[in-house]
Amino acid sequence: MKVIEEVYSPKHIYIVETKPCFHCKEVGTVEIPSQELFNLNQGVNIQYALVSVPKDLREQIISGTHPTCWIEMLGVESFIEDLYNLENDEE
Ligand SMILES: [Zn+2]
Repeated sequence: MKVIEEVYSPKHIYIVETKPCFHCKEVGTVEIPSQELFNLNQGVNIQYALVSVPKDLREQIISGTHPTCWIEMLGVESFIEDLYNLENDEE
């Protein structure tokens, strides 16, 4: 994960580039509020640090795989199932 842009307005966010996607080989970008990226860099576990980033985009930050590519590879049902499992893991 590499910061490619910093945006100050209307909110202070960083745009990070994610790894090449396993499925389509393209990199992607995800927007992260500055405070949340700071917390992540302090070693806070990603699901607690990036609280406002949706789970599918947190997954993209970790693995590089785009949410739409998960759906293409696995189908919508298993994508939702994976999200459900991630949710359970967090408890
Ligand atoms: Zn992709």
